[in-house]
Amino acid sequence: MNKLAQLDHQFVWHPFTQMCDWLKREPVVIVAGKGAVLHGIRGREYLDANSSIWTNLHGHNHPKINAEIQQQLKKIAHSSALGLANEPASLLAERLVRLANLGSGGRASSRAQTSKNHGSSVASPSLNKVFFSDDGSTALEVALKLAYEFTRRARSAGVSPASRAKVQPRFLSLAGAYHGDTVGAVSLGHIDLFHKSYSGLLFKTDKVMSPYCYRCPFNRAKPERADAREYRKCDWECAGLVEKKFAMQGRKGNPYAAFVFEPLIQGAAGMIPQPRGWLRRVTEIARRHGALLIADEVMTGFGRTGQRSAGVPPARRKEKFSLAPDRRDACATLFACHHEGVQPDFLCLAKSLTGGYLPMAATLTTQKVFDAFLGEYDEFKTFFHGHGYTANQLGAAAALASLEILRGKPSIRARQNLEKNLHDELQTLWSLPNVGDIRQVGLIAGVELVRDWRTREPFDLRERAGIRVCEAMARRGVLTRPIGNVIVLMPPYCTMPVQARKMVRAVFDSVRDIFGKL
Ligand code: PMP
Repeated sequence: MNKLAQLDHQFVWHPFTQMCDWLKREPVVIVAGKGAVLHGIRGREYLDANSSIWTNLHGHNHPKINAEIQQQLKKIAHSSALGLANEPASLLAERLVRLANLGSGGRASSRAQTSKNHGSSVASPSLNKVFFSDDGSTALEVALKLAYEFTRRARSAGVSPASRAKVQPRFLSLAGAYHGDTVGAVSLGHIDLFHKSYSGLLFKTDKVMSPYCYRCPFNRAKPERADAREYRKCDWECAGLVEKKFAMQGRKGNPYAAFVFEPLIQGAAGMIPQPRGWLRRVTEIARRHGALLIADEVMTGFGRTGQRSAGVPPARRKEKFSLAPDRRDACATLFACHHEGVQPDFLCLAKSLTGGYLPMAATLTTQKVFDAFLGEYDEFKTFFHGHGYTANQLGAAAALASLEILRGKPSIRARQNLEKNLHDELQTLWSLPNVGDIRQVGLIAGVELVRDWRTREPFDLRERAGIRVCEAMARRGVLTRPIGNVIVLMPPYCTMPVQARKMVRAVFDSVRDIFGKL
């Protein structure tokens, strides 16, 4: 075994990994990368088909990001944000605010906006304050704490001290939710396999049905060889349940403080995409009930949900719903929320913020939330939260470079082409009887493996169907990780057509290998 692999086996504990299995074989040791390709220590090349767990955007070793980090390194790598400002973090905060506001088309908009779509008038707050942290989990922790304290203060104003003590803001998130691994983020999560063991450590949150059309009990459609969102037959019962949940909590006299969601597609839940219009509907319900909106765009942010409306297919029958006018400007849309004209109160960004180079996160919020933490020093209204590497200069320099690339025409074109290539290639998988659903949202694809597509019968997790297929893909030089029985493809934006073909072909051949010939 290679020396580095030996050291790994001896000393490293890997995340989300059964180390018994890990220790049985020599791991792939990555020594370099270029574009969509990772180089192993034994000289083998692999395609990075999940963008190194959803982080990389433009490919590895990108000359522009490399150069910007090197430039920054000549000045300083890091100084603290506790008590000091710095150049790239200030510039990055301004750039993020410009991009995060719906309808601004990249121009900063500090006014509160009003969207008149769908017959209602929804006040859309402007996101104009940025709190930096380190990763997806901390981005969510920040949003959670801010929303909690903002609501607690708002609801405590003018009430007796006894009643004030009883103010307990409560959160609602989606079934299958995953928002990170720190204790607050885990509290928002609803994946028993990951979260149940820690229940004693967690605070209580509620969950509501997410629109998993392929396995939805309200979907009356028989299985077809198409994305389940396209042929579903239902009456939006899932949105009805959201309404019910909010109403019930309201009747208890403690309306939800915030609704936490991944927009357009839930990642770790199993790449569960939302039918067109769902996000708009449920966020309008949440707003009507006075809840803040916390959008977790840790996976979906920075263009990952694509630019074509095909990314969110409508149901075949005519929906009364129409998309926000902002959707027409979707080419410039970098955030999933904006595809449905939704402007959250908190926007959580991480993973690909730096193009996949460095750990850095940002939680954007509104002036109103910010103002609730203002006061004289001795009022102690300060937001007592922060990390050692908050607003790190190298991370901010990488993020600025990444945003610059994202806004450029070559990147926009590359994303459009990749989205289409991926879509076209994925159609070949429908001929496999063990492929039940293929769901694509922009540049994110999930392929759900089943025992037989006609029955939708799932594999038992113990059969390790997804893991076995991914192991077979790795033997073919394509790296990704499954989520249960779902194979994830989320390639970097620089992926060439021939590489996209190789990724999908690897899924095809591996599924056939594992489950037998057609
Ligand atoms: N939110 C979402 C939607 C995620 O997918 C993840 C990570 N997969 C997180 C939060 C947590 O991010 P991190 O692993 O960077 O803490």
